[in-house]
Amino acid sequence: MSDDARRIPLYQKREAIHPRAVSGRFQRLRDITVWLTLGAYLLLPWLSWDGRQAILFDLPARQFHVFGITFWPQDFILLSWLLILLAFMLFVATVFAGRVYCGYVCPQTTWTRFFTWIEHLTEGDRNARQRLDKAPWSRNKLLRRGSKHLLWWALASLTGITFVGYFTPIDSLVWRAFVWQLGQWEIIWIAFFTVATYLNAGWLREQVCIYMCPYARFQSAMFDRDTLIVSYDESRGEPRERGKRRRDEQAGDCIDCELCVQVCPTGIDIRDGLQYECITCAACIDACDNVMDQISRPRGLIRYTTENALQGQPSRLLRPRLLGYLVLLGVMTLLLAASLATRVPLGIDVIRDRGQLYRMASDGFIENSYQLRIMNRSQQTRTLVIGLDAPAGLQWRYGEQHLVLEPGASRILPVTLGYDPYQQHLNSTAIRFTLEDESHARYVRARESRFIAPRD
Ligand code: SF4
Ligand code: SF4
Repeated sequence: MSDDARRIPLYQKREAIHPRAVSGRFQRLRDITVWLTLGAYLLLPWLSWDGRQAILFDLPARQFHVFGITFWPQDFILLSWLLILLAFMLFVATVFAGRVYCGYVCPQTTWTRFFTWIEHLTEGDRNARQRLDKAPWSRNKLLRRGSKHLLWWALASLTGITFVGYFTPIDSLVWRAFVWQLGQWEIIWIAFFTVATYLNAGWLREQVCIYMCPYARFQSAMFDRDTLIVSYDESRGEPRERGKRRRDEQAGDCIDCELCVQVCPTGIDIRDGLQYECITCAACIDACDNVMDQISRPRGLIRYTTENALQGQPSRLLRPRLLGYLVLLGVMTLLLAASLATRVPLGIDVIRDRGQLYRMASDGFIENSYQLRIMNRSQQTRTLVIGLDAPAGLQWRYGEQHLVLEPGASRILPVTLGYDPYQQHLNSTAIRFTLEDESHARYVRARESRFIAPRD
């Protein structure tokens, strides 16, 4: 055996995949979903709410504005709850319809679709692109390739600057980008997301789904025999016979035209069975339906179906397991909505002066000192009243009890409480500071602390 024959390459060079353009009902639906996804991503930071950017993750101020609601680090639990809810929604969607998220709304799918569309626009459809790949460099190739990469960079830059626009007011960001006055970190993050978008959607494409996406790896564990999958109906299609003119009476409906393979963005042949590379984009369904129309056979040789249905078993989409998940999802959503609706956008923290347990004032009063941190976590100016729940005789000696706080503002208030030991006997006791919004009776917050009195 020669040396060459024994040499096994450890790295197999990737064959570029040039999916053929296809039209059909599922691709029209995908057009709608990817436009909605891209449109929402690009437009959301430009929306205003109460005179402020509707969605703004203001990291320096540690405030997350989501439409009318401002989240603070203390609300992290609500944000975590929201993320858990979204993850569970994805889980339920996967149990019901497999990788429908991957095929229709995943950012990787969305951006790749737009990048492929640009490629189609500048270099032509599959065959033209394959020819251009093999052709030597010429003026035509340079022009086509150059315009493709220029447009790719333009979309990637738009993506990068929009991403940073979720973290810093986008109108000033765009203006500063035009006049070259961006900050160092802004430049770094815009550059990072621009390059990441260009590489992911332009070069890596299906490799992100196949090798890098963790969701692709574990979601098949969520499938059951009634999950909707894109599948080739072998009983109807086989034995396949190439060519539109059927010669064999026994031949199946598949004419082996390979259009389902040519349109596949991950380059697989769905006729080989369910594969983890399949992102459920349904391009093969549309391609095959078009072929079936041409040869006057019923559509659906490749279709959304379930494993049970394919094997002639009864299949139920709304099965108890899924209904259980839907009920759980509904309960989780209601709980989150209730938490948001009843959320009190005020905060109070109490720090007792740890320097001394108590002190005796010049008028003989026994005093304790505190620092109250008062926060207005809403987007309106609020008039606040600070109250005290304490045993009779304990008096508010020093510190404001009324204050007006701007939206998102916080103040530290020194407060002194005390009692007259000649008038009243008092042991160390638990006390409670309350914070109320004067014009909103429901907005009340309270914090416990202690008053330390001398021992008898
Ligand atoms: S598109 Fe349909 S007919 Fe053509 S090869 Fe695929 S399954 Fe067969
Ligand atoms: S097999 Fe069909 S549904 Fe799956 S990725 Fe390829 S074209 Fe899309």
